Amino acid sequence: MHHVAAPNSPPCEIVRLDDVDAGLEGLIVLHSTRLGPAAGGCRIWPYVDMAEATTDALRLAEGMTYKNALAGLPFGGGKAVIRQPAGAFDRDKLFAAFGRAVEALDGRYVTAEDVGTSPADMAHVAGATRHVAGPHRGPGRPGGDPSPHTARGVFRAMEVAVERRLGRSLGDVTVAVQGLGSVGFALCKLLHAAGAKLIVAEQRSELAARVAAAFGATIAGTRTILEARADVLAPCALGAVLDAQSIPHLKASVVCGAANNQLATPEDGARLAERGVLYCPDYVVNSGGIVNVAAEYLGWSIEEVDRRVGAIGQTLGRVLDYGNAAALQPHEAADALAREMLARPRAAPLAPSMAA
Ligand code: NAD
Repeated sequence: MHHVAAPNSPPCEIVRLDDVDAGLEGLIVLHSTRLGPAAGGCRIWPYVDMAEATTDALRLAEGMTYKNALAGLPFGGGKAVIRQPAGAFDRDKLFAAFGRAVEALDGRYVTAEDVGTSPADMAHVAGATRHVAGPHRGPGRPGGDPSPHTARGVFRAMEVAVERRLGRSLGDVTVAVQGLGSVGFALCKLLHAAGAKLIVAEQRSELAARVAAAFGATIAGTRTILEARADVLAPCALGAVLDAQSIPHLKASVVCGAANNQLATPEDGARLAERGVLYCPDYVVNSGGIVNVAAEYLGWSIEEVDRRVGAIGQTLGRVLDYGNAAALQPHEAADALAREMLARPRAAPLAPSMAA
């Protein structure tokens, strides 16, 4: 393991992973530890080379810094990426070696499941370090499937966005939901209970049929859903669905969904604004899941998770206010507000006389 300084970014630290015997090659990026340990998942992917892995890790770790800050979590941002070995490899041995590398950072980086990794992989990591979020869930404690929390956060954010953009409540709008997996399905349930009309699309047709039967939803095609006659579009399937091709055809005036990286490029944020569409930044509105994962690691109660997820609408409101005041589009405002939070001096603990 080597420590390498990141170019042009003094606080960012890169730790090289190279355990030849275990087939472990990759890196851990600690982008920021300003608000707490750098936290972010571990991704395993067949990267062509370490340069590609490094670019991905730096980008993802920076994103985690902003996401954790805006979620109000006492965490900085980090990410681990591992180059998937070509051919067969001993997965248990690889993740045990990764766990030892995490342990060597002594709690300055906290890992979790991410693209390509599984709960079983994280169990091997947990054999070597306690700095892993996910596998410690006890009865009546936070942790486990993050999707219901993610859906509830998106729902709260949508309430705020619809009120601001349309002056209406969710009982009075039509929402188009793309993707009815763990989050999309739970979101439809909440929206239906609130009285919203639903238009849905899902590759797995049996799921679409289920949502149509349970929540009275109309079924659309997986591509045409983006241009459905709805007030709100909720992308809950893939990233990069908002691009130069799709944006001119949107009918919705609010976009608020769980999918990561919905904007294909930053310019697509400007394209949405030009069309008068209010874009709710994905990482702000989908942070309910990470709050649940963080709570498990930090030992918070379920009530604390509920309270924090319930506040995601207010956080979106702050981001939108910040953007209005600084003439920034919402996706820019989210990053800028997070950077400002990181630049603030840390609040000194209250002296006992002041706390009384
Ligand atoms: P999931 O895999 O359970 O569901 C995604 C669904 O989308 C699947 O049912 C899939 O068949 C469907 N789908 C794929 N392509 C489609 C298309 N073109 N049109 C319609 N449906 C399509 O995933 P999930 O956990 O529900 O997450 C959904 C999105 O939200 C992902 O982008 C994920 O990264 C993001 N997200 C999830 C969480 C969470 O807590 N699960 C947290 C943050 C972000």
